[in-house]
Amino acid sequence: MSPHFHSTFNRRQFVKNIGMAGIMTSVVPAFAGINSLQSAEIVSAGHPANSIGPGVFKLLPLGSIRPKGWLKSQLQIQADGLSGHLDETWPDVGSTSGWLGGPGESGERGPYFLDGLIPLAYLLDDERLKAKAQRFIEWAITSQTKTGMFGPTSNNDWWPRMVMLKALTQYQEATADPRVIPMMKRYFTYQLATLPTRQLTSYGKFRWQDQVVTILWLYDRIADPKLLDLMNLLRAQGHDWVAQYERFQYKERMSATKIALLSKLPGQQDTKMAAHGVNNAEAVKTGAVWSRISGASSDRQAVRKMISELDRYHGLPNGMFSCDEHLAGRNPSQGSELCAIVEYMFSLEQSLAILGDAFLGDRLEKLAFNVLPGTMTDDMWAHQYDQQPNQVECSLHKEPWTTNGPESNLFGLEPNFGCCTANFSQGWPKFAASLLMKSPEGGLVAAVYSPCEARISLQGTVVHIVEETEYPFRGTIKITVSPSRPLRFPFLLRVPSWAEDAEILVNGKLESVHKAGAFARVEREWKQGDNMAITFPMQPRVVEGFNKSVSIERGPLVFAYNITENWLKLRDQGMTADWQVYPSSRWNYALAVDPSAQSQEIAVSENALTDKPFASEGTPTKLYVKAKLLPSWVATESTAGTLAESPVESSEHNETITLVPYAAAKLRITSFPRLKDSWSA
Ligand SMILES: [Zn+2]
Repeated sequence: MSPHFHSTFNRRQFVKNIGMAGIMTSVVPAFAGINSLQSAEIVSAGHPANSIGPGVFKLLPLGSIRPKGWLKSQLQIQADGLSGHLDETWPDVGSTSGWLGGPGESGERGPYFLDGLIPLAYLLDDERLKAKAQRFIEWAITSQTKTGMFGPTSNNDWWPRMVMLKALTQYQEATADPRVIPMMKRYFTYQLATLPTRQLTSYGKFRWQDQVVTILWLYDRIADPKLLDLMNLLRAQGHDWVAQYERFQYKERMSATKIALLSKLPGQQDTKMAAHGVNNAEAVKTGAVWSRISGASSDRQAVRKMISELDRYHGLPNGMFSCDEHLAGRNPSQGSELCAIVEYMFSLEQSLAILGDAFLGDRLEKLAFNVLPGTMTDDMWAHQYDQQPNQVECSLHKEPWTTNGPESNLFGLEPNFGCCTANFSQGWPKFAASLLMKSPEGGLVAAVYSPCEARISLQGTVVHIVEETEYPFRGTIKITVSPSRPLRFPFLLRVPSWAEDAEILVNGKLESVHKAGAFARVEREWKQGDNMAITFPMQPRVVEGFNKSVSIERGPLVFAYNITENWLKLRDQGMTADWQVYPSSRWNYALAVDPSAQSQEIAVSENALTDKPFASEGTPTKLYVKAKLLPSWVATESTAGTLAESPVESSEHNETITLVPYAAAKLRITSFPRLKDSWSA
């Protein structure tokens, strides 16, 4: 029915994969279990045609992990903000929605909303939110016709259904509703029969891998071999993302003019979709997801390959790639769309579970703790479409976006376009649901860190986990492990790549030293109340970026200079409003730091966490850096102008400026020119 993977897996590719085996063991920081698994798979050159391999780790069903501490506060802010009230104030997901049988919006917006509302509702155990979600779920399930098709009849696009299926998997995990799996089976049967004559188009063609995530979810429960046929068909009709990144050609700012020119070339008619930011963010997971089917190391390596190409040509100091809304180069005045942020996070969560690669956890935390809160007001009632690392004004202006409109960096209900309004809600809840995972040997994994609690069934025993921490603002994490009876299992702890000399104490006794950028393994017979105390060193770091500029990081947090903000309401928008933000202080500083120095002369102060940890008021961590004004650096077109190549010179007087966590500064400088002479010169 469709070209199968093994028909294209030729000897050349096999030899190439063998050649890459050596690279894998050096670049994928892992423990022995993973390395031996990789070797075995490389030698067998993939799984047999009728089997699907497991991931290295396994995500836990929604509801296993509960947020605590600051993370619970953050989810509660979200529930009290736009996410928890969107249907009351935005018709696109209100009672006229096509996803409630109404005549209204019948595309991706209803499903996007559900994809975030469901995990938010169940993580907070919030009956009000569960009831809101249930209306859509009931309608979606009962809308299924005898053919197997479901959803609004006015729109038969495959893509919005791919999103609703993702939402349904989470709902099934949380509720065990017995209708979900049969409904999915019927729909997939319908799709397998229908796709040959009604092929994937538009977003469905470029986001097919997100449906494969759902099909694999179902396969893990019912192991129906027909599902493999459907996955192969989706892949055959879908865009080949792995190939796109094997010979990556979008190396520059993809302006509308450039896209139009390229699209006229033979074989390049899809440039607009292939260089689209959100499509690329969703695509990051493609290699990992498909590696469960192919077993190929080239697919596993594709995730790192994609991230490294995006970083090289479009990487920003906040961990994102630029996409406003097409790939936009490395200038820190370019923006990143909020949909791309939450989709990149979801790609990283899925890829981390499948590949067990610690690097993916580092990047996931960097996005969650910086760009996600950084693009929303502290009360989560307003968001931006595009945020910039160097964001000196949020106002109606045409520059510097590649293809977006003048509202792109306003804070509001639906600035520029409403996709992010519907889609942003998945960011925090899915992050919270990915903190802990299962390892294949019946153990547990601390994949990313934040305060939480979990009850997890391991080898038939319930293990109660309590993770207490003020990470990412502090470097200490305490994990208490309480199995209902003594139980031997390995607990894998991610040691971030920036955490050289991390310390792990088990019941107060020091474990052996652990390598940064890998998983530390603590295996023992765990008894009620055993605990691990983890300490990650939190020295500030200087990181080089665009035009040899510098940015400052500490732990997983990126720091920024907070320009004094003057918020002006542009218009009311139902229960919320649209805002412009104008600067009322100078921001054109160059820093006196040395990226090559072993330790930095950057002072740190810490304050108690508030219940809005990412707000500028009462920010828990501040850094103090030596700087001078750089009068030649001026704003143009409401952006931070030209970032001169460093090092730069300034005859202004010495100052010490205060940096705050990136998210606390809605007007900010993140990439600074570096001063040539030392500060005291
Ligand atoms: Zn969007």
